[in-house]
Amino acid sequence: MKRKLSENWKRIDERVANACERAGRTRDSVSIVAVTKTASMDVIRALVDMGVEHFGENRVSELAKRAAMIQEWHTRRTGRGSVAGTEPPQWHMVGHLQRNKVRTLLPWVGMIQSVDSLRLAEELDLQAGKIDRRIPILLEVNASGEGSKQGVAVAAATHLSEQIDSLEFLELRGLMTMAPLTDDESVIRHTFGRMYELFEEVIGERICSSSFRELSMGMSGDFEWAIEAGATIVRIGTALFEGIELAQPAHAD
Ligand SMILES: *Cc1c(COP(=O)(O)O)cnc(C)c1O
Repeated sequence: MKRKLSENWKRIDERVANACERAGRTRDSVSIVAVTKTASMDVIRALVDMGVEHFGENRVSELAKRAAMIQEWHTRRTGRGSVAGTEPPQWHMVGHLQRNKVRTLLPWVGMIQSVDSLRLAEELDLQAGKIDRRIPILLEVNASGEGSKQGVAVAAATHLSEQIDSLEFLELRGLMTMAPLTDDESVIRHTFGRMYELFEEVIGERICSSSFRELSMGMSGDFEWAIEAGATIVRIGTALFEGIELAQPAHAD
């Protein structure tokens, strides 16, 4: 498993590097989040050993459980001095978040990429204030306009960014989106291009503070196009686990 996983990671890293080069960007302008929702704990630990720093989950209960297990394992190892100085990995929430799950999530999450309403942002701000933490978040935008997708409408995104950016215990780092459900490359590239324009507009018009600089888009099937369009974070699951036995069934939601 470890060899195959390491090969997959290297291959993805290479593809990211090549896409950066094609786009005239430096490799360090893009980070990869390994979306582990269908992976076993053994796979996650192997990824941490390989130096993977960012993990994504789409369910609060899974994220909290896995982050706790990894933190405990990481502390035990670094305590022994075997990998002293290494940071524990960061966990990204990428799925729809309900307000009643916020308190469970906050202790474990490094970044919430799926903030899709002002009401959710306000609840996050309230709960983050109680534990005196400033939480990095992204505003999720429904760039394709598909009814089935989470995220705020493109037309509302600028104004919402401004409102959320003013909340004391949230640090609005940028935008997140999912490509439309289609195999049509031109439609996907067009959607990514539109998101980049929106992202640039928020930056160019100084609507938010300077921490607004991340654009999370691109998954296994389309991350190269996303990087060419300006993504700074790609979220990769399937491509990373190709040829690897998954211990847990994929979640339906
Ligand atoms: C599952 C998931 C991913 C990863 O998708 P793959 O196609 O498996 O790479 C990325 N982002 C979100 C929000 C996800 O739910």
